[in-house]
Amino acid sequence: MLDYEKLGLKMGLEVHQQLNTDEKLFCPCDCNLTDKQPEYKILRNLRPTQSELGKIDRAAFEEARRKLNFIYEAYVHETCLVEADDEPPHPLNMEALEVSLIIATLLNMHVVDEFHLMRKQVIDGSNTGGFQRTGLVATEGFLETEYGNVQIDVLCLEEDAARRIGHEKGKVTFRLDRLGIPLVEITTAPSMNHPEQVKEVAYHIGQILRSTKVKRGIGTIRQDLNISIREGARVELKGVQDLDLMPKMVENEVIRQVNLLKIREELNNRNASVDDELYDLAEILNETKSKIISKARSVFAIKLKGFKGLIGMEIQPGRRFGTELSGYAKKMGVSGLFHTDELPAYGITEEEVNAINEFVGAGDGDAFILIADEEEKVQNALQEVQRRAKIALQMVPEETRKSLPDANSEYLRPLPTASRMYVETDIPLISVSKNLLEDIKANLPELPEEKKLRIIEQYNLSEDLAKQLVRTDRVDSFEEIKAESGVDSTTIASTLAYTLKELRRDGCIVDELNNNILLDAFNLLEEGKISKDAITQILTNVCKEGNSPEEAAESLNLMMLSETDVENIIEEIISSNRKMIDERGTGAMGSLMGMAMKRLKGKADGKLVNKLLRDKLQNIK
Ligand SMILES: [Zn+2]
Repeated sequence: MLDYEKLGLKMGLEVHQQLNTDEKLFCPCDCNLTDKQPEYKILRNLRPTQSELGKIDRAAFEEARRKLNFIYEAYVHETCLVEADDEPPHPLNMEALEVSLIIATLLNMHVVDEFHLMRKQVIDGSNTGGFQRTGLVATEGFLETEYGNVQIDVLCLEEDAARRIGHEKGKVTFRLDRLGIPLVEITTAPSMNHPEQVKEVAYHIGQILRSTKVKRGIGTIRQDLNISIREGARVELKGVQDLDLMPKMVENEVIRQVNLLKIREELNNRNASVDDELYDLAEILNETKSKIISKARSVFAIKLKGFKGLIGMEIQPGRRFGTELSGYAKKMGVSGLFHTDELPAYGITEEEVNAINEFVGAGDGDAFILIADEEEKVQNALQEVQRRAKIALQMVPEETRKSLPDANSEYLRPLPTASRMYVETDIPLISVSKNLLEDIKANLPELPEEKKLRIIEQYNLSEDLAKQLVRTDRVDSFEEIKAESGVDSTTIASTLAYTLKELRRDGCIVDELNNNILLDAFNLLEEGKISKDAITQILTNVCKEGNSPEEAAESLNLMMLSETDVENIIEEIISSNRKMIDERGTGAMGSLMGMAMKRLKGKADGKLVNKLLRDKLQNIK
């Protein structure tokens, strides 16, 4: 069991949420993603620029070393010259600023007097200009949790980046539809000590965001988790999707850092070191049976003195120290590496291993690592492995890591340094007026939890139904329909919460069922023209055939029959079953009711059928 307190565990959370505004942050393009074929493409090459302090950001530098070309997919309507960085940004989308002010207020934050934008250098290609525009909206808020208050450090309004679509041989393709969608970034202080607390804070921030005008669905909210332990380093885990997985992720990262510290201790005890030389193995392996190596243009090795046995050591469930080294190598475009602790294997024989050991001068406790690919890639990759191995002698490196679905993580890039911000000169600053803030405070949205409790109380709904209604974001719709219709609250609510979900699963586009259409259907129910059971079929038909609810009920033969019609059908059933009635008397009731309901289901109220049938049977005797 890990003693988090003793290890000095500290965590912070960074949440990115897309806003659901009509336009993008700096142009009038709409904020929806498209799957259409791109209408044109732009090719770019990005290089890091120096910040005002004259430093090149180390993450930016890493990216530039990879020598990539970037292809941007663009559209005539969904994107414009602003996304292509061929035209300056238009004035800021004020709706987006207002939504971010509402969120800041709900997080008890201090809002800035003047909103101004900065450029944050990003050269992984996800921004055509080589930077992302971001502006500070508010600072120093807080959230109450079971484990005490958590400070919310900053809230920024920024533009989302382009979508990475794919990559092949030195070319990365991005789609411009996502670039410029307004995004709110919320950063907590790195002060949380308990994994369950991080989960609670993430949940609360999510609830607050959902009460405002934000986008819903996969990819619209992204959470990053900062984790450090006292002797370790700050690591940022990108893209944590599942809140329930957060505590496990924290645990795995702490285990990783604890093991890296153990490895450091052992390496220091052994007086381990990293040899700077790259050894060309072309001659040693020129007759190898290993397919990977014989296919490659070049194969080199490096020597790690005193590392033997540690490269194969597991540092995270299912992931070894070798995986860390290989993570750095892969960033240089190679597909992986081979190391002493796993050889002989992969077609590399024991004789070859011995020959390599001899060639690089590796003794008993030493390890080698070899990589096969194009020469330049191999050399860059091995230098990265050397760099990572040297770090292992000293510390746990600060890294940005990608969170994986199994609650582990893999290396993405070094943690960005603070030197990547510079001033945006294309957009004037905006004063945030006292009036605007007061207006926002006076009209704050109801939070989901409050909303749930209120509708349970006000409409006498069950907890489960109210929760589902809030979760599916149909409370407003429910209240509007309920105000116009005499149908009972539970029927309306369960139609909105459950029936629509069923319909969506069946392939209906339920967004087309607006309040007016739903109200028409409920009116038919209220007027006794249809039964409650018929609603699902009717709404399905409305979705799929484009009928009105009444047309749907008629075409499906689901209109309720008049009492006279029901009576006629019952008489018909009785007369064709006289023999059975004579034999069984009132005992025939069950069978007759079954026959009647089979013919009348969805077209007559069961209670009425039962009553009429009973009366008629009694009259026979
Ligand atoms: Zn645009």
